[in-house]
Formats: sequence, C-alpha cells, structure tokens
Amino acid sequence: MKSINELRHMGSMILREAGIADADIDASLIMQYLLGVDKDHILAHGTDEVGEAEAEEYLKLIDVRKSHVPLQHITGHQEFMGLDFTVNEHVLIPRQDTECLVEEAMIVTEDKMRVLDMCTGSGCILISLLRYKNDLEGVGTDISKEALKVAAENAKRNKVSALFLEGDLYGALEGSSESGKRFDIIVSNPPYIRSSVIGTLMEEVRDHEPLKALDGGEDGLDLYRRIMEGTDEYLIPGGRILFEIGYDQGQAVSDLLKEKGFADVEVVRDLAGLDRVVKGRKRI
Ligand code: GLN
Repeated sequence: MKSINELRHMGSMILREAGIADADIDASLIMQYLLGVDKDHILAHGTDEVGEAEAEEYLKLIDVRKSHVPLQHITGHQEFMGLDFTVNEHVLIPRQDTECLVEEAMIVTEDKMRVLDMCTGSGCILISLLRYKNDLEGVGTDISKEALKVAAENAKRNKVSALFLEGDLYGALEGSSESGKRFDIIVSNPPYIRSSVIGTLMEEVRDHEPLKALDGGEDGLDLYRRIMEGTDEYLIPGGRILFEIGYDQGQAVSDLLKEKGFADVEVVRDLAGLDRVVKGRKRI
C-alpha cells in the first residue's frame, strides 16, 4: 500500500511528464478531492496509507488530468469571489481575472438596482453581486440552456435568487417578463477571443471549454458591439455598463463605447497589471 505522499508524488511526476502546468498543485488537489479532505489534512496525514481501491481511483483521475481535461472538470467546482461554484463543460470556468469585473461593478451598484448579466455562463458574476450587495434584482441571460442549468444551481448553492433567461443576448428578454424593462447596470464577460487565436489556446481551454463562450468573431469584438446596441432600449439614462475585456482590447472597446455616446469611459487593470475591464456611463 502507498501513502498519500507517495501517491501524490507519483501523480505529480506523471502530470509533469505530460507537460501539465501546475503538476504538483493539481496532484494535491486531485488527492484532496478524492479523499474529501482539505489541504491541511493532506499536510498533516501525508504518511497515512491509502486503500488499494482509492489509490487506483487516484491514478485514474491523474490520467484524466494528464489528457488535459481541466482540473475543475474533475472536481466539478471552482472558487470565485470566495464562493463555491459548480462547473461543467457547458460553462467557462470562472477565472480569477473576472473578479476585477465584479469588484468594479460592486463600486457602482446600489441597493435595489436592477442588474443584467449577459452571457452569464456559470452565473459567477451575477451571483457574486447578488450575494455581496443588498437587495439587487438580477437577471442573467445566456444562449446555452445547459449553461443556465449550471447558473441556476449556483444561485441556489449560494443562496441568492436571480432570473435566468435563455436566448441570444437581448433576445432572451424579449417575450419574457423583463421585455422592455430597463436596467441600472449591465455587466458582461462575453466571448472575446479572436476566431483566429482560438487554435492557439491551451488544450484545456481549446478542447474542453465551450467555444461559444470564447469566440468573439474575427476581431473579437462582435459581442461588445451587439451588447452596446441594446443599451438604447435596455439601459437607463445614467446607467452603467461594465465589460470584461482581453488584455489588448482596452482601446478598441473604449472607442466603441465613446462612439456609442457613453461618458466616463475608463479601462481598469487587473491584479496582474493587464487591462481587464472597460466601463462607462450612459449619458442622461
Ligand atoms: N479569459 C478567458 C480565457 O482565459 C476568455 C474569456 C472570454 O472570452 N470571455 O481564455
């Protein structure tokens, strides 16, 4: 029989040889997931033996990760804004980068505001806002029915209530109880990768995360344009719009917002110092 540490070491070697970026961390996290324990337990009980069946299961999971399946598809979870989110292959795995968007949105949200999250995916942005601010009304839309199932489960898990609507951007609102009703804030982390760049993404992202959540068209800006178009009808005068952007899209998305007549257009950097959010205010 092998100990926790011996197995972790084996797992880590296998992953490293396969070129997995965070081999050590992933080998540990897979062990934590398998045993249903936290990091402290692994550190304190590293010499404990693992039963044959569990050891075999561990190495099977390591093999899955070795084939570049994202760790979060193995564990089914991702932490975001200190909250726990369920994930699967139908949603983009919440990125830490996106916390920048939530933090910016939190600055401008006030009690009772109506918030629209377009391309909500796992729901991580909207659910975090509802969880940390008082009494917001939240609507999330997505073109994927499967994604919305995940979002609904995440809302329940995090004890917030939101309305999730299926459809293509504002098309999801039309014909619903929200049709023609305006929002105080629109947030979105839309697909924004240029189509030609998709092939160069990490295997974990390219082959396992939903293409629909990544591909922003030829120049990556398709969805920003379409979301901005709907602000005439769906954003109140003085209302705010906040987008997550790719590191090289700050200028382009700011220009689009200014052309659309938005005021106070600003680019915000994330913790890594990269342009990450563009925000603006609709003129009154
Ligand atoms: N930031 C994401 C990535 O890691 C892309 C997210 C998006 O297109 N909205 O590829």
